[in-house]
Amino acid sequence: MPASSANKKKHVAIIGAGVIGLSCALWLQKKGFKVSLVDPSPPGSGTSSGNACVIADYGCIPINSPSVFKDLPHLLFSKDSPLALNPLYVARHLPWSLRFLAHCRPTKVAHIKNQLAQFLTKTYDGLNPLLELSNTKHLLRQDGMMHLFKTKQEFEAVKADREFRAQQGINSIYINSDEIRELEPNLKMPFECGLLTKAARRVLNPQTLSNTYFDCFTQQGGKYIKLRTKQVQANEDGVTLHLNNGELFSADKLVVAAGAFSTQIDGTGIAHLPLDTERGYHLQYNGLQHLLNRPVTWNRRGFYLSPMDKGLRVAGSVEIAGYSEQKNQRRLNYLQRISSQMLDLPSQPDQEWLGFRPTMPDSLPIIGHSPRSTHIVLAFGHHHLGLTLAGITGKLVAELLNNEPLCHDISAFSPQRFD
Ligand SMILES: Cc1cc2nc3c(=O)[nH]c(=O)nc-3n(C[C@H](O)[C@H](O)[C@H](O)COP(=O)(O)OP(=O)(O)OC[C@H]3O[C@@H](n4cnc5c(N)ncnc54)[C@H](O)[C@@H]3O)c2cc1C
Repeated sequence: MPASSANKKKHVAIIGAGVIGLSCALWLQKKGFKVSLVDPSPPGSGTSSGNACVIADYGCIPINSPSVFKDLPHLLFSKDSPLALNPLYVARHLPWSLRFLAHCRPTKVAHIKNQLAQFLTKTYDGLNPLLELSNTKHLLRQDGMMHLFKTKQEFEAVKADREFRAQQGINSIYINSDEIRELEPNLKMPFECGLLTKAARRVLNPQTLSNTYFDCFTQQGGKYIKLRTKQVQANEDGVTLHLNNGELFSADKLVVAAGAFSTQIDGTGIAHLPLDTERGYHLQYNGLQHLLNRPVTWNRRGFYLSPMDKGLRVAGSVEIAGYSEQKNQRRLNYLQRISSQMLDLPSQPDQEWLGFRPTMPDSLPIIGHSPRSTHIVLAFGHHHLGLTLAGITGKLVAELLNNEPLCHDISAFSPQRFD
């Protein structure tokens, strides 16, 4: 794609150097923009570093579900629930929870599923050019992905979701317990059946992917400002960022890609948006990647076991409890207890990690212009799918700022949908 010479001198600042911000940066550079990334933390070191490594282009089933109402007692009170809530936090942020529940109604869930499914079909249109550009194709493996079901009832409970995925052309084949054992001989717990999605890919290490994207970005002249943006001022000509060392930084355009923290920056006109965080955890076991041949998930338990380049990661769980950095030991114990039922794992992991998924109550991202200024583009809220959707989000952001026709209809991702 030829870089437009008209953009040569246009300067875009991006707040946030997670996988979303980095992907926007590379796509904008491809279009000829001059780009600066602003982030106090090392690139890719936030939520983007600790995920389950799966390019989940099959992941069109949101956590919003009509069954939430029926399952709530189990979800809230069972020690083996994949979900945990801090009642005080939920009570203080009741509007988000009520909106989330409102988006668990069947018509809303159907809309979310359709939107996610359509968007996910574009995953590789956004990702492949970045892998090519940054020479990172070797970081992706296509070994498939396995959903496991302990009982026939567990399998039957997801019948509608299975059928929906099949209608979308997502090809998952049924495997019985013998086939599971053959494909993953180290699984010690018997599973009744599974679904194997052969086309699924995984990233060997999401931090390495971000590092390589970042190197590519700087090699192409990108500037990195290792500071926090406190406030943004938009005027007729562009934007000015107020940084936490007191300096001002001006650019023609701005992309807000600060993940779960995006609405906490003053002056962007989006403080009213219902962004919250689904806290997620991982445990990592160094040197144990050989225990699995592909990512697996015991569907009902809400986390993945993913083989990486140098270890095995157990990643997932959802906790609604706000932005405190303090880890909830019960969530970590949950991951450890259940994963140890599945594989022979040491009693102590080598790493315990907490991250903050950026989540809107309708499980759709925000991609579009800020209501405050056409100089500001928003790109956040990718909840469980940020690694997967980063490339296509970057492509869309670059198309928006380049005033080109968009490769995907983003009206469902508009920030105005909550007005
Ligand atoms: C346990 C777990 C498992 C997951 N598994 C998967 C998976 O397998 N596949 C998948 O597709 N997705 C997965 N995800 C989701 C995915 O990791 C996220 O959606 C994605 O990382 C979000 O990226 P981001 O760039 O928006 O946010 P982040 O990675 O959090 O980056 C945001 C950046 O903004 C910076 N920032 C914040 N405030 C400011 C400010 N004021 N000024 C400047 N910078 C600022 C932060 O320092 C940070 O670096 C998982 C998430 C979790 C928690």
